[in-house]
Amino acid sequence: MTPFDYHRPETLAEAFRIAGAIPGARYVAGGTDMMVRIRSGRERPGALISLGRIDTLSRIELGSVTQIGARTTIGQVLEHPELTAAYPLLALAARPFASVQVRNLATVGGNVCNASPAADMAPVLLALDARVEIEGPQGTREVPLDAFFKGPGQTDLAPREVLTSIVLEPPRPEARSCFLRRSRVGMDIALTSVAVHFQLAGNRLTRPRVAAGAVAPCPLRLRAVENLLEGRAVDAALLDEAARLAEGEIAPITDIRASASYRRRLTSTLVRRAITAACEESR
Ligand SMILES: Cc1cc2nc3c(=O)[nH]c(=O)nc-3n(C[C@H](O)[C@H](O)[C@H](O)COP(=O)(O)OP(=O)(O)OC[C@H]3O[C@@H](n4cnc5c(N)ncnc54)[C@H](O)[C@@H]3O)c2cc1C
Repeated sequence: MTPFDYHRPETLAEAFRIAGAIPGARYVAGGTDMMVRIRSGRERPGALISLGRIDTLSRIELGSVTQIGARTTIGQVLEHPELTAAYPLLALAARPFASVQVRNLATVGGNVCNASPAADMAPVLLALDARVEIEGPQGTREVPLDAFFKGPGQTDLAPREVLTSIVLEPPRPEARSCFLRRSRVGMDIALTSVAVHFQLAGNRLTRPRVAAGAVAPCPLRLRAVENLLEGRAVDAALLDEAARLAEGEIAPITDIRASASYRRRLTSTLVRRAITAACEESR
């Protein structure tokens, strides 16, 4: 491992200054992705800039909108009863995430900024219509999460920008949701994951959101499935059609974990099961 300097600024302004002064400097939050890449030689940073002392990045606020600071760990999500009661999807993704040790370090912001197609928080945040707040030397901007992902490991962030928080609309009383994930063994990244979120008006679905992970270069929303579900009551024929459309919207690869055709079948099965489970969710 090539030696590198490690900086721990206490403000974003200081972080931007260091990032501008050192070529190849990289931000790090929990380090659970970054350190693996450095140890394997895939990453050789000019320096690491820890976001760990910038307290403004770790707040959780529920108000007219909900703000989840980027440095919030997966463990802190689980330990926040108001947050998980308002958005059960977050807990569904956080609970099976890695191990206690990893959950105590891994941040929500790092999960999103790492831009792995298999990141577990990504489909649930897409299904919740999340936006990301970004701050850089030029100011602050907000981007819908589905426009933030640009490819595997690639995001909309400019070189010195920091993702500061995840922004969610307030929860709705009629909201129903489900997250399903399959991996080969525990502590492995997802083969495929599916998150659904919608409102139930009587027995009809409104504002349906369906997102999938590990089946395309980026985590993605399955918009044809969403359009199909809008305003409809769920029955067997609708589930068959949703499952069929889901297969057509993804572009899975074959790798050491699974074949593309297995991932396609699994996605359609998980879409069917997640919609069914969300409809049956009691509140
Ligand atoms: C054993 C193990 C098990 C794992 N299991 C899972 C799992 O079950 N599910 C899953 O989804 N992931 C898993 N991961 C991957 C990893 O833990 C997560 O992606 C984690 O959320 C990354 O967060 P972090 O804070 O550690 O990111 P870091 O490693 O600190 O950073 C990741 C990337 O994001 C950038 N970054 C981080 N924060 C910001 C920010 N606020 N603004 C701008 N850029 C930023 C960094 O520069 C870096 O490029 C696992 C990793 C390990 C080692």
